[in-house]
Amino acid sequence: MDIRVDLERLRADIEALGRFGPDPKGGISRPSFSRADVEAREWLKGRIRDAGLAIRQDGAGNIFGRLGSPGKTVMAGSHIDTVINGGKYDGSVGVLAALEGLRRIREERVVLTKSLEVASFTDEEGNLVGDFLGSRAFMGLLSEDEVRHGRTQFGPLLADVLKGTEFTIDGILEAHKLKPELEAYLELHIEQGPILETEEVPIGLVEAIAGKRYLWCSFTGNAAHAGTTPLELRQDAFLGLADFALKATRHVAAAHYGSMVTIGKVAVHPGAFSVIPGRAEFSLDFRSTSGETLHDLDKELSDIARDVASTRGLSFASKLVDVTEPVKVPERLLKLMEQECGTLGYPFLRLPSGAGHDAQILASGCDSGMIFIPCLDGTSHAPDEAIRWEDLEKGANLLLKTLIRLAS
Ligand SMILES: [Zn+2]
Repeated sequence: MDIRVDLERLRADIEALGRFGPDPKGGISRPSFSRADVEAREWLKGRIRDAGLAIRQDGAGNIFGRLGSPGKTVMAGSHIDTVINGGKYDGSVGVLAALEGLRRIREERVVLTKSLEVASFTDEEGNLVGDFLGSRAFMGLLSEDEVRHGRTQFGPLLADVLKGTEFTIDGILEAHKLKPELEAYLELHIEQGPILETEEVPIGLVEAIAGKRYLWCSFTGNAAHAGTTPLELRQDAFLGLADFALKATRHVAAAHYGSMVTIGKVAVHPGAFSVIPGRAEFSLDFRSTSGETLHDLDKELSDIARDVASTRGLSFASKLVDVTEPVKVPERLLKLMEQECGTLGYPFLRLPSGAGHDAQILASGCDSGMIFIPCLDGTSHAPDEAIRWEDLEKGANLLLKTLIRLAS
């Protein structure tokens, strides 16, 4: 059947959603359950109702719009929350392209054997507790302790953030009870990297989503006077960190090409001009699409750190903060999407996702796949996040066609 999305309508939706949560410092700040998010949710529910879909919201604030009667369901979506000073495409394009797809299917009265649902998952960006709060709640993967006692990025307990909203901790923990029987999940998303734009290809089919480890680490040495302690007698914790950062990066580049390691947050103590740093604390983020590589990196990076520590007279300690396992996209989904790209005449390439997505969480319960479209200069999580509308049209058409295939 020759059916296509209405790009103008989809574009108008994306522009409209982009008006919720402008930040005076630039871009959009719309963390889940903020005032801007609550207003955006009401707008989205209105659009789902206007589309003639049956609306549903679970205890975690995940919003669904259904086409068809309850039963086996093919789901597509993403998230509408943003990072602080984020852009208007990350997440939003996935929710609104899915909504547009369902609208077109309803308008054309396409006959399907399974139901379709658009989903908007709460707090994908992890502004509250951990990443993927909504999709983990939906799949029943949250730990009760984490939700009851977890502190949000902004400091207060999640329970305190929920006061003044319609949501509760118990509601979040019970959200999975409303999960339909899932046949498959698809998510359209901006690539958040430079590959598609560089290769001049409009469509990326995600083969695997990287898993990650977050560790909070420290080197401890000896804080001493910067003017009187000879260089060769120092136990400088910052130099340990600097040495480790270079060695760890070189090791990952040489031994595990395609995997990533990042030190994104650093605190040096006591932190003065005239004092040699006695302690350096830092975040360590490493990622790979291979579970085996993550396992190896765990040991190898820790060996490098201990080596550096012993050479420099320091001690090293680390604490695991967060774990996400990598996910391989089933070949059946990739083949189906490749066929549809062929029919539509769209060039595509297969690529991994280094960033995490709700699709990775949904993969614990059904076949789960992702379609990437280019974002300009590979920029995301920033005010100048941008896309080309013709790429979005292609991505949304591919999503629409694949949903029909999966639900037929
Ligand atoms: Zn996203």
